[in-house]
Amino acid sequence: MSRKTDLAPYACEPALTRGRRYPEPLAPTRNDYQRDRDRIVHSTAFRRLVYKTQVFLNHEGDLFRTRLTHSLEVAQLGRSIARSLRINEDLVEAISLAHDLGHTPFGHAGQDALHGCMAEFGGFEHNLQSLRVVDKLEQRYPQFDGLNLTFEAREGILKHCSRLHAQQLEVQEPNGVGSRFLRREQPSLEAQLCNLADEIAYNAHDIDDGVRSGLITLPQLQEVPLFDCYRAEAQSEHPELGQPPLHRRLLYEAIRRMLSAQVYDVIDATQKALADCNPSDVDAVRKECPPLVMFSDAMRERSQTLKRFLFQNLYRHPQVMETTGHAQEIVRDLFAAYTTTPQEMKAAFAEQASLDEGPLRARTVADFIAGMTDRFAAREHERLTGRRLLS
Ligand code: MG
Repeated sequence: MSRKTDLAPYACEPALTRGRRYPEPLAPTRNDYQRDRDRIVHSTAFRRLVYKTQVFLNHEGDLFRTRLTHSLEVAQLGRSIARSLRINEDLVEAISLAHDLGHTPFGHAGQDALHGCMAEFGGFEHNLQSLRVVDKLEQRYPQFDGLNLTFEAREGILKHCSRLHAQQLEVQEPNGVGSRFLRREQPSLEAQLCNLADEIAYNAHDIDDGVRSGLITLPQLQEVPLFDCYRAEAQSEHPELGQPPLHRRLLYEAIRRMLSAQVYDVIDATQKALADCNPSDVDAVRKECPPLVMFSDAMRERSQTLKRFLFQNLYRHPQVMETTGHAQEIVRDLFAAYTTTPQEMKAAFAEQASLDEGPLRARTVADFIAGMTDRFAAREHERLTGRRLLS
């Protein structure tokens, strides 16, 4: 089929999609990737992202990022870079909006706890869970489970996968989205881009939320060159921003400059990598090239320094760790309670779990817990144990 757009030859082209698991006629006004995006936006799992923790638990404040606003920021950055690289913006948007659908309540704390509970049943991986949400757990169509997204969207959603799980996926779907992990191949450029846009987004917004929460301060950030060089630049151009109450504008201006610098860096470094490798199409990107969407070496190093700073000073902050401990306790207690008494879950899950006492029951319980918002999980915990850990 001939190409109908002015996208680069290595971009994903909806007219050349590898298709959906259940074939469907084309939509009259939207291409397949636009349709994927719309299905994601209308899903239940997407709406729940608004009440799921990114770093700060949802109840700690109304202005912190949640998984929903994080996903929107990833989509914005991704689309903007995609446009410059002439790759598929619609697909980038779809993958970005779906990339966190499989996250448990309470962010990484919830995921670690659920992974622990599932240790003897194959564990819990949030990327695999995101795929499970769009392939199976969303139930809104008469003909099939899931959202029946295109191969390219599903490929991007499954951004990491253990070898064991890839082998299992390969059995269910030969030459499907698990194959590349067995063959050590890359995904499309659109998928690679979403991965990097995710990182750019959270590094920037975690600085913003960290400072807003008071857990990190502007002077502390002097040890982070990627932020501090733009803070200094903005302050020398606008000296009045050095004084309260204008500090907040200094923070925003520094973050804005830092984001732009990373976006331009990715565009530049990726264009160079593309010129070196010169893939003829998306299959060449997958099979013949190393990862191509990247930072320059200098920016990669600066980004890693920032990540280390956030890890030490924000993600491991005693105040964050305290709520983390409570969140993990909630997830573990819920897992134990539903495994013993599946009828405490919503009807469809209860019914499914009652059919099996082993790994299938455990997976059903994990699906139910993973789908919860922070506050629903906290309320369920209080209902089942009589103890209020987070309010
Ligand atoms: Mg993310």
